[in-house]
Amino acid sequence: MGDDKKGIMPSCATCEVEPRGRICYTEEGKASKGCPTLGRVEVLAEAEREYEDEEVREFARQASIQEAECYANRHERPYVLQPTKTRIVEICEFAKRMHYKRLGLAFCIGLVKEARVVTEIFQNHGFEVVSVLCKAGRTPKAAIGIRDEEKIFQGTDETMCNPIFQAKLLNHEKTDFNVLLGLCVGHDSLFFRYAEAPVTVLAAKDRVTGHNPLAAVYLSDSYYRKITVP
Ligand code: SF4
Repeated sequence: MGDDKKGIMPSCATCEVEPRGRICYTEEGKASKGCPTLGRVEVLAEAEREYEDEEVREFARQASIQEAECYANRHERPYVLQPTKTRIVEICEFAKRMHYKRLGLAFCIGLVKEARVVTEIFQNHGFEVVSVLCKAGRTPKAAIGIRDEEKIFQGTDETMCNPIFQAKLLNHEKTDFNVLLGLCVGHDSLFFRYAEAPVTVLAAKDRVTGHNPLAAVYLSDSYYRKITVP
């Protein structure tokens, strides 16, 4: 009986096999409880069929080539990983590989300086940039039923973040590829849902750590232990 029927949920995050000894990494590898490689074969087959679509296959192929290109001197043996490319370089290179011309930049009002710099970098690489701030459209928070005590600046006509407008605007401008810069949790989800072009994230917002969410995770057994308790 498959894991599905037994009600065992996939749980790669708690896999007990060391990463390079895993069944998903090598044919001779081992699996752990909740292994989707062994326990979800029908879903796997369904996913693999998607790559038969020419466009999807090419996107995946270029993403995989780009992944490898982020490491230098891959001909050396034994090979020790030598990562050389920052994420913004990775985005520029991937967009060039895909022959994208027009990039969409959906950003947060808290990152206006960064958005200007990112736009210049993209333009220097030859891309057209269509950019849109989260507050564009000035739709009031009242439109989605936000009460005064639920606003950041209480007692004001606060403008909501409007990720659906951001996505629809970039759809309207026919961007080839969209880049998110600092959208909030949930606002980014709506953007993903409504955007027609593929989306990548340059930076995930973290108000406390300078947009480095993993800083809190790395410190969760020491100075940020407080995040481990509800
Ligand atoms: S696919 Fe299986 S072997 Fe690979 S990480 Fe998940 S549980 Fe472990």
